Amino acid sequence: GTALPGLAWDHGFARLGPRYYTHLHPTPLPAAHWVGRSESTARLLGLDSPAWHGDDTLQVLTGNAVPEGTEPLASVYSGHQFGVWAGQLGDGRAILLGETRNGFEIQLKGAGRTPYSRMGDGRAVLRSSIREFLCSEAMHALGVPTTRALSVTGSPASVRRETIETAAVVARVAPSFVRFGHFEHFAAQGDEDALRALADYVIDRYYPQCREVGADTPGGAYAALLAAVTERTADLLAHWQAVGFCHGVMNTDNMSILGLTIDYGPFQFLDAFDPGHICNHSDHQGRYAFNRQPQVAYWNLYCLAQALYPLIDSEPATLAALEPYKARFPAQFLLRMREKLGLLQPREDDGALLDRLLALLAQDKVDYPIFWRRLAQAVAAGDFGPVRDLFLDRKTADAWLLSYSERTIEQNQAQAADLMLNTNPKYVLRNHVAQGAIAAAQQGDFGELQVVQGLIEAPFDEHPLLAHHADFPPDWAAHIEISCSS
Ligand code: AMP
Ligand code: MG
Ligand code: MG
Repeated sequence: GTALPGLAWDHGFARLGPRYYTHLHPTPLPAAHWVGRSESTARLLGLDSPAWHGDDTLQVLTGNAVPEGTEPLASVYSGHQFGVWAGQLGDGRAILLGETRNGFEIQLKGAGRTPYSRMGDGRAVLRSSIREFLCSEAMHALGVPTTRALSVTGSPASVRRETIETAAVVARVAPSFVRFGHFEHFAAQGDEDALRALADYVIDRYYPQCREVGADTPGGAYAALLAAVTERTADLLAHWQAVGFCHGVMNTDNMSILGLTIDYGPFQFLDAFDPGHICNHSDHQGRYAFNRQPQVAYWNLYCLAQALYPLIDSEPATLAALEPYKARFPAQFLLRMREKLGLLQPREDDGALLDRLLALLAQDKVDYPIFWRRLAQAVAAGDFGPVRDLFLDRKTADAWLLSYSERTIEQNQAQAADLMLNTNPKYVLRNHVAQGAIAAAQQGDFGELQVVQGLIEAPFDEHPLLAHHADFPPDWAAHIEISCSS
């Protein structure tokens, strides 16, 4: 039978039993071909390289063959979408191949219809699959918690969206794909037994410390779980806001119980710094605007808390588990931003210095990645001219730069520059950069995809021959429209 070379299996989630999923096989796609592969994710899994580049693996990762020892399944979950209870959802186009013995689940996204597909076709298009593949790996290289991507494979099979496109499958990898929505599902059904078994599974596998912490906390291990997820989510949001990442669809079914970035859809890294930026073309109310993300995450945690409430069985203990978010997010955000600013020792007034800067960046709509990289280079070279050039309001910019130089004058400049050059990436997966790789791939040329992958896997390196990929976005970038499921 077929195998993924080097992998052995041990299916933890499947052992939860059939209340949580439906067993099924992926639906095959004709004439599968490779689009992209991540050696870094392959190493994480323990795949034998280059054996996994072979046709057998290509067929498995496209859903055309099922490896021996796997029990593929689609899981059921529910969720709140755009603030409204949506009822049952589930893996509508993602099929879990299984879990490796070293603790990684492999999921095929776009692998065909499942019992949870509703009106959908179970497919994903090449464009959105390349975006998920590249962004997973970009986020990882930036140090942001995320699901990973092993591969994208494509097929000439057509998929109808606004236009006719072609099908692709992303093989994605994470210790668990359990979402807030899995808990909401069993809570909404009033199935306390299934809810408890799921919570116990998540605690035992991913948060074992919650047993000890819970032993002398009101609300026990389940309140400790909620507190731990709250912390991880606060940390995740601090990362997103610092790197300028807009997720676009922060529904509760897209929130990872492990605090990972999950379900890459209409996401965008900010170009110009616009705090109210809405990256999802179908988010008419701006519910998921960039600067609303931290508050939305807290709202989503509140939904998780309501789902866990029957287990915690104490309102004060439930609220106490959520409460730390309000202090944790700003503290973690400031930590991240201190690194970007190269502030080696914290000081009381750092928050005020940062707020003045962010207001100035917003006022002049300064390009976010270029500002930070130039600031890092300015500290390295001792010349702030290129930073100053980014502002229209030179007077206010000069006033801030003066405060910044006074704040940093006594620091070890080499050490600060080193920190900044390894915190502020030169290469960011902006929409237009991804679009360049996508347009070429749609013509059957995967060279640009490999170039972009190389840049985002080492985003702090200069790559001098490819520096045009770090330029300001072209005018057409403003017209790239990306909405939900594609
Ligand atoms: P998303 O907003 O992409 O996270 O998707 C929300 C829900 O719709 C999830 O349950 C997905 O599995 C499902 N879904 C999205 N696109 C499709 C599709 N093309 N076919 C079937 N189900 C889909
Ligand atoms: Mg089974
Ligand atoms: Mg989703």
